[in-house]
Amino acid sequence: MKKPTVGIFKFTSDAGCQLQILNLEKELLELLKLIDIAYFPMASRNYGKGPFDIGFVEGAVTSTEEIIKIKEIREQCRILVALGSCACYGGIASIKNHKPQRELEERVYTDLTAVHSTKAYGIDQYVKVDAYVKGCPIDKNEFVEVVKSTLMEIKPNLRPHSVCVECKLREYPCIFLTEGKVCMGPVTSAGCGALCPSKHRACEGCRGPASDPNTSSLARTMMEYGLTPEEVRLKFIKYAGETQAFKEGAGVR
Ligand code: SF4
Ligand code: SF4
Repeated sequence: MKKPTVGIFKFTSDAGCQLQILNLEKELLELLKLIDIAYFPMASRNYGKGPFDIGFVEGAVTSTEEIIKIKEIREQCRILVALGSCACYGGIASIKNHKPQRELEERVYTDLTAVHSTKAYGIDQYVKVDAYVKGCPIDKNEFVEVVKSTLMEIKPNLRPHSVCVECKLREYPCIFLTEGKVCMGPVTSAGCGALCPSKHRACEGCRGPASDPNTSSLARTMMEYGLTPEEVRLKFIKYAGETQAFKEGAGVR
């Protein structure tokens, strides 16, 4: 039987999520028994042509060229998956959306004639997306989960709850309460195993909003812990400032 074909595409990003796929090493060899990765420029010079059964897209859409390209890729892929926070929400690149576009371009480029930047958005701003693998970078096990469930045509078992739940399940002490480290865990989507709190670092919200998060309440609590409204805003716009939930947190004064 012919194996499903997979394409892995890069938009504006640092390639960290694609690197996580390569980091799978042994599991990747197992996966290759089930799928044919036909297009993966970071790993191979053999550029296979579509159509593809599954397309994974890393990176935010940040230019007119990329808007055209993501629409072409959507047409070539039966199932399209956003890979990582840039593709899901715009990610780090979307911080620029909160400054005048021209001012930033002038700061970076001396000649603006070939610059066609747009605001940075996740790919679902332009095309329909069938599944999301969150994180900056992605969790490689979640990638495997999404590939397997896609092959079985079932919904992936991704966690809708917050990072705080993972902290509790692993019995980590809450560093917000015990160390006063202002943490985005209460409103951030689980799946990383509370990685940062496990190292005594506050969650920075890299996986974007959990389901039904109370971002306004967290923003007010952050201020009670001494953050200025501007510092709170910067926390909420770091990875997923274009989502409605994090916009609300960023707007609290
Ligand atoms: S450390 Fe952060 S993620 Fe963990 S329980 Fe406390 S607030 Fe939640
Ligand atoms: S704890 Fe927060 S910032 Fe750290 S990896 Fe998890 S979601 Fe990302």
